[in-house]
Amino acid sequence: MTQPALDLVIAALERIREKSDRAPRASRTALARLQEAPVAASLREACTSPTGRRLQARDKADLLAAVRERVGACTKCAHLACSRTQTVFGVGNPDADLMFIGEAPGADEDQQGEPFVGRAGQLLTRILKAMNFAREDVYIANILKCRPDMPAGSFGNRPPTPTEMQTCRPYLVEQIDIIQPSVLVALGAVAVEGLLGTRAAMREMRGRWHTYNSIPLMITYHPAYLLRNQAPSEKRKVWEDMLQVMERLERPISKQQRNYFL
Ligand code: SF4
Repeated sequence: MTQPALDLVIAALERIREKSDRAPRASRTALARLQEAPVAASLREACTSPTGRRLQARDKADLLAAVRERVGACTKCAHLACSRTQTVFGVGNPDADLMFIGEAPGADEDQQGEPFVGRAGQLLTRILKAMNFAREDVYIANILKCRPDMPAGSFGNRPPTPTEMQTCRPYLVEQIDIIQPSVLVALGAVAVEGLLGTRAAMREMRGRWHTYNSIPLMITYHPAYLLRNQAPSEKRKVWEDMLQVMERLERPISKQQRNYFL
């Protein structure tokens, strides 16, 4: 089944499940499998040339551009398609070794069309700099590509719902399959839930290695959490998680970096 046709089937099933008295005979698990299996298979095929060589950065950029185009026209969550200024696809190096995953665009991101550009994003950029990375070196994306809508006249952001995350997740799966990073970092519990479907306390998940599709996955606090909680101990925890990431990527770590506090 082609991806556009698959999108239509999934969107139709989601609409029936949400609006009909009679639930369609498709469980969430079945929907998730339907969303992922053909995409992963077709991407695996597309990501390897006939000679078996892995795709180059330019090929990956082309594949990502095709997904970006579909995301830009996506209306699977009708309420978000109506309320968004624009979709927020992702930014960075299509051939990145390191990929960060957040939860959803906020107001700044919705306005600018780029993930992590608000205060939390500026802190993420500082963390990257301390790791000797520029934003252009890594890839940054969210589980949700549209800003979660807010009641008229209210401020701030709301977390995405499980249904919204499940609906949008296939796009992130495609991004990861194309980029094929060596290491993934999930920022915060919502990103973990969207990516792994796992709900647990951050103190139990962060600071140790998990895997997503055989890719090492580090879980750490969202930068927004560090803005709310300025305790040096919490900042140090995030930095220690990033030291583990640098070690995994075999990046040189100076003594100054070892002793660094965010
Ligand atoms: S959140 Fe994702 S699935 Fe929902 S409308 Fe936006 S791009 Fe489409």
